[in-house]
Amino acid sequence: MNKELLLSNLRNIPDFPIPGIQFKDVSTLFKNPLCIKEMTEEMVRLYKDAGITKVVGIESRGFVMGAILAERLGAGFVMCRKPGKLPADTKRKEYGKEYGKDVIEIHTDALEPDDVVLIQDDLLATGGSAKAAIDLVKAFNVKKVYCNFIIELRCEGLKGREFIGDSAEISTLLTID
Ligand code: AMP
Repeated sequence: MNKELLLSNLRNIPDFPIPGIQFKDVSTLFKNPLCIKEMTEEMVRLYKDAGITKVVGIESRGFVMGAILAERLGAGFVMCRKPGKLPADTKRKEYGKEYGKDVIEIHTDALEPDDVVLIQDDLLATGGSAKAAIDLVKAFNVKKVYCNFIIELRCEGLKGREFIGDSAEISTLLTID
């Protein structure tokens, strides 16, 4: 995989959305067809033999590569969304954030016990939102859960990988220290 191509097309926005945060803006990766191709090929290489039946994208930046990957793997695509966005019956998971709480939801008919699931999101920071998605997916008693992120942030003491631990098998394309 051409990491230099991806890193040189990733935009960093200092102090967004609040002072002190270095925001990794993947919109500049998504707008470049060469970057989409590079990320897709690497993700397909990682998961083509894993027997993935459903890709779960975390709202909203996980929808982009998640949907592309689902098509390439011959899997279905499922949206994991913020509360009140999904129209049918949902399972929900509340989780703690740095300030306050958040909730994510999945339709109750989105997954089956014989599914092998790949959760996709753009970035792993503390791991809080990914762990909530893993717990939610596991509530369907699926066979196995994998997690993929475009970026793993390790700076400023972030330890998302450790927070997720062995609750899912993780892969990341780019690590930023
Ligand atoms: P966390 O739950 O702390 O692992 O945060 C991951 C989620 O928050 C992902 O959905 C990211 O899109 C977003 N996020 C957190 N930190 C950043 C950052 N520095 N740059 C871009 N997105 C971020």
